[in-house]
Amino acid sequence: MIDQMQIQMVDLKGQYLRIKEKVEFGMQEVISTGAFINGPYVKTFGKNLEKYLGIDHVIPCGNGTDALQIALMALGLKPGDEVITVPFTFVATAEVAALLGLKCVFIDIDPHTFNMDASLLEAAITEKTKCIVPVHLYGQCAEMEKIMEIANKHGIPVIEDNAQAIGSDYVFSNGMKKKSGTIGTIGCTSFYPSKNLGAYGDAGALFTDDEALAHKIRCIANHGQVVKYQSDFIGVNSRLDSFQAVVLDAKLSLLDEFTRDRQNAAHFYDEAFKDHESFEIPVRASYSSHVFHQYTLKYSGDRDQLRAALNERGIPNMVYYPYPIHLHKAYKYLGYKQGDLPVSEQLAHQVISLPMHTEMDTEQLEFIVDAVKKSV
Ligand SMILES: *Cc1c(COP(=O)(O)O)cnc(C)c1O
Repeated sequence: MIDQMQIQMVDLKGQYLRIKEKVEFGMQEVISTGAFINGPYVKTFGKNLEKYLGIDHVIPCGNGTDALQIALMALGLKPGDEVITVPFTFVATAEVAALLGLKCVFIDIDPHTFNMDASLLEAAITEKTKCIVPVHLYGQCAEMEKIMEIANKHGIPVIEDNAQAIGSDYVFSNGMKKKSGTIGTIGCTSFYPSKNLGAYGDAGALFTDDEALAHKIRCIANHGQVVKYQSDFIGVNSRLDSFQAVVLDAKLSLLDEFTRDRQNAAHFYDEAFKDHESFEIPVRASYSSHVFHQYTLKYSGDRDQLRAALNERGIPNMVYYPYPIHLHKAYKYLGYKQGDLPVSEQLAHQVISLPMHTEMDTEQLEFIVDAVKKSV
């Protein structure tokens, strides 16, 4: 018998048991050496992640939001410059641009992949466009080949918001593969605890193959200092602490295993819902593997009713995201109104995410599927 309370949206405690010894050993070592910030563990983790991603430079920082902000700063964007992104994402993607006085220009998403509709990109470009920020939502890459083609044609840098897709592979039309976050000018990621590669606190990183840019990013993340107490850039304080690096390094060696666990759970859900008349299962793009940060269904019925019934049965569920950014109060000043980005607006009403993590067993999955089917 399954205890209903056992089902969680994300099970970090169960996962901890897989890395317990490494983490406890590393934590003790950090305490005994006192290298709390930028210690050897931070460097080792950075190097290991570079190797895993196949990229020259990984620059760890304080969190994913900072990573996005630092990326925009490193590209030298000026107030009034335009940044093209999507409204169907976590607010951080647009927030950092707004904070720097940049103008967010939103384009709509593809109704099946939930990612930037690359066919709308070129029409949104003006002479003020200085950056494009696609988001790899739920664990699957945006259509990067097309996006890069347009960006390169116009000489516009691309920042990938890879907070949800670390470990996924992008497949180019010639068959070449690259890890998500290593295709654009700069890749940004978050190691927020519930992300696919999650720390035990806030953490993030930037990726780039451009050495000069990597140097600038490293400086900006540390008060713009090129040498100590000498700032060449206006920077921020955004560093990765050694405790988080211990956790991240332990988890990095298991990331592909974690991804397979997530994909197996997703496959189980797929089989259960693929022929159900009220649900559309996540569409897999031909150009990207899916690492299932979220397992997100499209539901054609009354979602509030479904969620209430699931809550009653003790099945955690979430809506990522119920309001597209252009309709948030804080972003009204951009001048968008209801109806301007119809696909994002419609999906905000239809999506529902089910429990998804690395510790799901068949018994739990069966219980969840059964409860969902009884709740529609
Ligand atoms: C989590 C997330 C962020 C922000 O990361 P934090 O580490 O929480 O600052 C940014 N963009 C997307 C798409 C995210 O999912």
